[in-house]
Amino acid sequence: MSDLVSQRPTRIVVDLDALADNLRAIRGRVGVPVMAILKANAYGHGLIPVARHLQAQGAGQFGVAFVEEGIALRRAGITVPILVLGGILGRQAGQLIEHDLELTVSSIDKLRKVEAAAQALGRKAVVHLKIDTGMERIGVHSETCAPFIEAAVASRWCMLKGVYSHLACADDPGSAMTALQLERFRAACAHFTRLGAPMPIRHLANSGGILHFPDSWLDMVRPGILLYGVLPDPQARPTIEVRPALELLSQVVYFKVVHAGRPVSYGATWAPPADTRIVTIPLGYGDGYPRALSNRGQVLIRGRRLPIVGRVCMDQFMVDLGPDGTAYNGDDVVLIGQQGDAAIRVEDLALQADTIGYEILTRLNERIPREYRGG
Ligand SMILES: *Cc1c(COP(=O)(O)O)cnc(C)c1O
Repeated sequence: MSDLVSQRPTRIVVDLDALADNLRAIRGRVGVPVMAILKANAYGHGLIPVARHLQAQGAGQFGVAFVEEGIALRRAGITVPILVLGGILGRQAGQLIEHDLELTVSSIDKLRKVEAAAQALGRKAVVHLKIDTGMERIGVHSETCAPFIEAAVASRWCMLKGVYSHLACADDPGSAMTALQLERFRAACAHFTRLGAPMPIRHLANSGGILHFPDSWLDMVRPGILLYGVLPDPQARPTIEVRPALELLSQVVYFKVVHAGRPVSYGATWAPPADTRIVTIPLGYGDGYPRALSNRGQVLIRGRRLPIVGRVCMDQFMVDLGPDGTAYNGDDVVLIGQQGDAAIRVEDLALQADTIGYEILTRLNERIPREYRGG
């Protein structure tokens, strides 16, 4: 299978140097340790190669969503501390501890289950407490977290490494929600001081917090999308200089003249007003390229920005060169990235497809081979 896949003209090229530079730029700006977020196949960039490179660059902490992502990293020989951010069931606690993964503890009940699993294994669990300051996802509400914090401080089987919360609106610099969440988080953390307990590492800022809310940086920051050089919101002010690390490339596989009025692709949603030249590109929604780009998206061929015409299919779509346009089989096609002076950013695709950059990146799936440059 892998021999066949490597023949595909469609590929993702990841610039490892860009990732390392972005990590350095973020670290340099915030001046506190960085937890590099690697969930969802490192935002589509490839979990293991990205983790290996960032580990070699001295990354001090990783974050993933699921136990399985953490185990995959350990099996690949990654030794950097890894926090599993997502909610877990009690039955998963043992697996986390055995694989030397740090756990998110998001209620007293879960704390008890983690303690029981740690005791059964005779090995302390390293935990981060999750406080809910306004996301209403997982975590104990900040106003009622005192008993939770007391139970964690008193725990014999949990080593308390961190305390954290998650920002709901940090991609919007004008939102009042972030200041409110920060205030609630500080009030929750003050309870450690009241108890005379050592303060764990306090972390709160995602990419939006890093870009727009310096007060939220605290003891550690958790960049995801910004690490990959993409803004959390297309309108976000790039207050830290990062660059995109991922290109999505393909090649023309077919050329034809389509006569006036002859519709192109499923549903016959578009037909040329005059005879035109159409090329076919060999990827589609089955690779994670959004079908929402039907009749809306663009690609770069020979330095020109050209429109997608008709519906994006599972494995192919068509592009209009215009009546006089030229392109040949094997010509390079840029779907995300730069060609000459023209560029297509993830943020552009997200706007055209009515979604966010996160979804564009994380949907690019395993069917597309990844190549790594630099590093
Ligand atoms: C995904 C995630 C992040 C990273 O978010 P970005 O907006 O990509 O920076 C940080 N913290 C938690 C808890 C997350 O789930």
